[in-house]
Amino acid sequence: MGKLPEFYVDQDLCTECGDCIKAVPQAFRKVEDEEVAEVHTWELDDTFMPRVQQIMTDCPGRAILWRKK
Ligand code: SF4
Repeated sequence: MGKLPEFYVDQDLCTECGDCIKAVPQAFRKVEDEEVAEVHTWELDDTFMPRVQQIMTDCPGRAILWRKK
């Protein structure tokens, strides 16, 4: 199991559409008692990278961002 570069959901930008959770449930989940999404792990195989990059592009709020080192 690899590890992807760290990314996160800016919850001020999230429109609560749930698309990222549907697209990559291995990485995203709903925040408890809220509708916004959050990242729950980056411990994903490198093969997930294209799916993460795709949902970053598709996210209507542009809310999924790389965490700057
Ligand atoms: S795809 Fe974007 S706007 Fe939709 S729930 Fe995920 S982070 Fe929020």
